Amino acid sequence: MHPLAKLDHAHVWHPFTQMRDWLKRQPIVITSGKGTVLRDANGREYLDANSSIWTNLHGHQHPKINAAITRQLKKISHSSALGLANEPAGVLAERLVQAASPAPAKAKVGKRESEKVGSRTDVSNSHLPTSPTAHFPGLPLSKVFYSDNGSTALEVALKLSYEFTRRTRGPKSKPRFLSLAGAYHGDTIGAVSLGHVDLFHRIWSKLLFKTDRVMAPYCYRCPFNRAKPEREDARTYRKCNWECVGKVGQALTKQKKRGEPYAAFVFEPLMQGAAGMIPQPSDWLRQTTDLARAHGALLIADEVMTGFGRTGVTCHVDDTALAHVRKHPERVRAFATTRVGVPVDFLCLAKGLTGGYLPMAATLTTQRVFDAFLGEYEEFKTFFHGHSYTGNQLGAAAALASLDLLQSRASVVARTRLQRTLHDELQSLWALPNVGDIRQVGLVAGVELVRDWRTREPFALRERAGIRVCEAMARRGVLTRPVGNVIVLMPPYCTTPTQMSRIATALREAIEESFSHSERRDTAVIPTGAAARRLNPEISRLKNTGIISS
Ligand code: PMP
Repeated sequence: MHPLAKLDHAHVWHPFTQMRDWLKRQPIVITSGKGTVLRDANGREYLDANSSIWTNLHGHQHPKINAAITRQLKKISHSSALGLANEPAGVLAERLVQAASPAPAKAKVGKRESEKVGSRTDVSNSHLPTSPTAHFPGLPLSKVFYSDNGSTALEVALKLSYEFTRRTRGPKSKPRFLSLAGAYHGDTIGAVSLGHVDLFHRIWSKLLFKTDRVMAPYCYRCPFNRAKPEREDARTYRKCNWECVGKVGQALTKQKKRGEPYAAFVFEPLMQGAAGMIPQPSDWLRQTTDLARAHGALLIADEVMTGFGRTGVTCHVDDTALAHVRKHPERVRAFATTRVGVPVDFLCLAKGLTGGYLPMAATLTTQRVFDAFLGEYEEFKTFFHGHSYTGNQLGAAAALASLDLLQSRASVVARTRLQRTLHDELQSLWALPNVGDIRQVGLVAGVELVRDWRTREPFALRERAGIRVCEAMARRGVLTRPVGNVIVLMPPYCTTPTQMSRIATALREAIEESFSHSERRDTAVIPTGAAARRLNPEISRLKNTGIISS
C-alpha cells in the first residue's frame, strides 16, 4: 500500500463513511488536479464527475484563481472580521449582492414558465428571468453575513429568521419552520433540524428541535402521479393535479389557523440535491413561494448546491438559446432563484462560492432583517453569532476570481454547451432496464437506479446499488458519489465533450457490469413517441453494439 494510504488508514476518520469498509480497501489518495482531471498518488488519472462533492466550478488549478490567491497571500491570509473589515470581503459582498439582484431586464426568449406548465418539453423552469421585487417590502438582498460552510450558512439564516420573527411578532411568538420532505441542509444541529432525512432524524432526534415537513415534488415517485413509467424524465409525462403545491398550501393554512404562521419556508430551488437529485416541475417554485409569502412566511433559499450557475443557463438548450446567451451573457443569472425570478429573504451560499477552492460561505439577507438587529448597545439587539475565519481574505479573493470567470462570456457559452452535451450523453442510458429516471437541471443530473424501469421497484439501500455502480465507474477512471440509488453527475464547467462522453460511457458500462448477473437484461426497452424520435440514432448505435436488440 502507498505510504500516504497507510497514513490515512492509520489516522483519518472520513465523513459519511463506514470506516470498517474503508479500512478493507486501498484508498485513492489524490495528490494533484488540473481542470476536470484528478491524479492519485500512483499517477492514475480520474475524471472528477461530481466536482469534488459539488464544490468545483471552473476546474482544478485554474490559473486565474491560483493567481488571485497568490496575490492575496502576498498581502495577508487572514485577519478577524470581529472588529475589523478587510478589502476582499467587502468587495465580494458587493459583488454577491449584485449577482443576487433581480435581472437587469426582462429577456424574451420563450414563453413565461407559468404559461408552459405541464408541457412535455419544458423540463426545468423559465428561459431567462424576470424578478419583480417591488411589491415585497424590504427586498432585495443587500447584506452579507459570512461563515465557513453550507451548514453554517443555514444556521445563520435560521437564527436570523428566528430572531427577526420574534422581534417583529413579539417576544411570545414561537417561530416555527417548514421545510421539504427528504431535505438536507447540512450537519450542524440547526441544519439537521431543518432537514428531513429519516436516518439522521432517528439518530439525533433527542438533540434536534421540531420543524414541520411538507411533501416535496418528486414526480418519479409521487403517489399522485397516475402516469405509467416512460423512458423520459418523469416531470415531462406526469399526470397529476399539482397535489404537491396543494400540500404546501394546506400546511401553510393549517399553521396560520393555529395563530402563528410559519416563520420561514426553507427550500432548495429547482432541485433538491442530497435528497436524491429531485427536480421540481416547472412553476412549482413560483407557486409555493408565492403561497408561503402570502401566508406570512419568510423565504430561505438554500443554494449551497444550486448556486453559481449549477442549475444552468437556460431551461432548454437549443441553438436559439445559445445565440441568445452569446449576445447577452450579462443576463445569465448565477442563482436558481434569480434565474426563475423568485425573490427571497435569505440566500445561503457555500460550496461553489470560492470556485471549490476554500471553505467559505455567505448568507445574504435584506435591509429589513438587518434593521431588526439595530439598536443601542445596551439593548443587546446585536446578532450574537460569528466564526473565527469569518470573511477570510484568501477565500474572498478566490471567490472574486471565480465570480469573474463565472460571469464571463466564455464561461456562459461553455456552460450552455456543456448543459447540452450532458443532456445528449445521458440519452443512451434510457436503454438500460436498471435506469428508472434521468433528471437533469442545468449542469446537474441524477440517474435513479431501479430493479426494473417498468415497475420503478427500488433497490434496498443495503444492496448498495449506487455505491457498486460508483465503484465500477472508479475502476473506469471516473469519480462520483451516489445519493442512495441515484448516481450524481455534476461535472466542472471546463469539462470537454470528450470527457463528458467518457463519464457517460463509464456510467453506462458500470450499470451494465453491476447488474448483469442479478438483474434480467431487458431487450425490449424501446422508447416510444417523442423520446423514440430523439433517440433513434442512439438506439441504432446500441443495437449495432449488441447492448440492446430489437
Ligand atoms: N445545503 C445543501 C443543499 C447541501 O447540499 C449541503 C452539503 N451537501 C449543505 C447544505 C451543507 O454544506 P456543508 O457540507 O458545506 O456544510
